[in-house]
Order: sequence, then C-alpha cells, then structure tokens
Amino acid sequence: MLILGGTGEALALARLLAQQRPCLAVTTSLAGVTGSPVTPPGRLRSGGFGGAEGLAAWLTDERVDLLVDATHPFAATMAGHAAAAAARADVPRLKLVRPMWPRQEDDRWIMAEDASAAAAVLAGLGARRVFLTLGTRELAAFGGLGDTAFTVRMIEAPAEPLPIAGARLLLARGPYDAAAEEVLMREHGFDALVTKASGGAATRGKIDAARALSLPVVMIARPPLPPGEHVADIDAALAWITARLERI
Ligand code: NAP
Repeated sequence: MLILGGTGEALALARLLAQQRPCLAVTTSLAGVTGSPVTPPGRLRSGGFGGAEGLAAWLTDERVDLLVDATHPFAATMAGHAAAAAARADVPRLKLVRPMWPRQEDDRWIMAEDASAAAAVLAGLGARRVFLTLGTRELAAFGGLGDTAFTVRMIEAPAEPLPIAGARLLLARGPYDAAAEEVLMREHGFDALVTKASGGAATRGKIDAARALSLPVVMIARPPLPPGEHVADIDAALAWITARLERI
C-alpha cells in the first residue's frame, strides 16, 4: 500500500496500520520539502514521482494494491496526480482529507478564493498589523500592501528572502495551543489573521484565539477535491482499507 503523506493524518494512519495490519507492506511518500520530517513506520520514500505518469509507473512497478492520498487539503496538484495515476494503473484510491474547522457564531471569518483575494480583503479592512500563517507560495500576493506590517509564521525558514518588504518571520512548529496563540496575537497587536482553510486540531488554536479576541480572519478557501471516494478520519480510512483487502 502507498500512503501519500506530509500530514499528521498520514503519519497516524501509517502508525495504526503498523499495529493493526503488520503483514501489510506500507510505504509512505513525502514530497521532501521539510528538512526534518517525523519518520513513519514502514518504508519511506521522498521526492516527486514525476507527475501523474511517474506515479502510475511507480504504482505498477511496485505492485501497489491500494493508494491512500492523505496529503494536505491544499496539495491540489498531488491530489490530481494521484487520481489520474490510480485510474491509469487501475489501483483503488482513497482521499483522506481532514474536516474543516467548524465555524462558530462569533467567528469573524471573511472567505477569500485565493491569496490575491485575501490581500484585497485586507486592503479593504485597512488592517495595519497582520498575522500570515501561509506557505511561501502564497506570500507574494501580499507584497503590494506597503502600509501593512506583516508577521509570517513558518515551520522552516524559506530558501529565498520573504517576498514582502519588512515582513517579520516567526519560526515555529505546531501543535499550537489557543491560550499561547492569544498571548502571541496580543503581544504583536495583530488586527487580522490570514490563514488557509486547512482544518485540523494542530493549528486550530489560532482560530480559537482570533475568536476570543474578536479578530477578523481572512480564510483562503480549499481547492476542490478530485472526484472519487474520500473520508475525513483515520478510522474511516482503516475501514476502507480493510474492506478492500478482503477483496484482494
Ligand atoms: P502540491 O502542490 O500538490 O504538489 C507539488 C508536487 O510535489 C507534486 O506534483 C509532486 O511532484 C510533489 N509531491 C507533493 N506531495 C508529495 C508526496 N506526498 N510524495 C511525493 N511527492 C509529492 O503539494 P504542496 O502543496 O507543495 O505540498 C507538498 C507536501 O507538503 C504534500 O505532501 C502535502 O501533504 C504537504 N503539506 C502541504 C501543505 C500546503 O498547505 N500545501 C501544508 C502542510 C503539508 P511530482 O509531480 O513530481 O510527483
């Protein structure tokens, strides 16, 4: 079985399978973008496959019976490649995608289609001190907001300088606790938070803290999922795997 990873869910699934299905040969694949990833049990491979074609060839060469795409909800290219490759190699595929954070009544979310739309929302809000919890590829869209002071939080420092003049870089690795997030937001005097609609417990603290402080949250919407079966949690993924293994 191949798990496309890079998420806590992929790691948890690999750990659960090692316990509950020790005879199943599980490989986890990582993009290879994080310097020191947590190592899952089973076999680990790292780096791109070379598009959908490369992944289809890999599935065939390695005689993979099942594919679970447990990549991040915003890893849309990989999800599309996984769908195309699984169809081409005739391998059953499941998308494991964490649920979105539930929206509460006093949340001040403003949905944005992408990073450029989020930057336009910030300009409209007249935000002066903004907390950006985004990846490198989304940052350039905020470079034109000259009057806004940005603080960018990332796991690792990017190879290139930040594309936002004067932005402050905060290096940290979750999980993040809501109380600590609230202290951080108060200390920096943020008047808005920008985040992707990633969902998940590890980064939910900032959402709870923003609600407590009544901060507007500019929320970049998820890209659509490729068609096909998808589940929201590890137990449902395990049930899918178990049912499929019975048919092999
Ligand atoms: P992406 O844009 O969908 O994928 C870009 C390329 O990276 C893919 O075409 C593929 O290269 C390679 N790739 C991605 N995931 C891979 C995997 N698990 N194993 C092998 N190759 C992989 O992905 P991304 O948004 O850059 O995310 C990269 C990784 O970070 C993913 O594994 C994702 O789960 C994780 N991650 C992403 C985010 C996010 O916000 N995007 C957040 C947290 C974690 P080839 O075409 O050459 O196969």
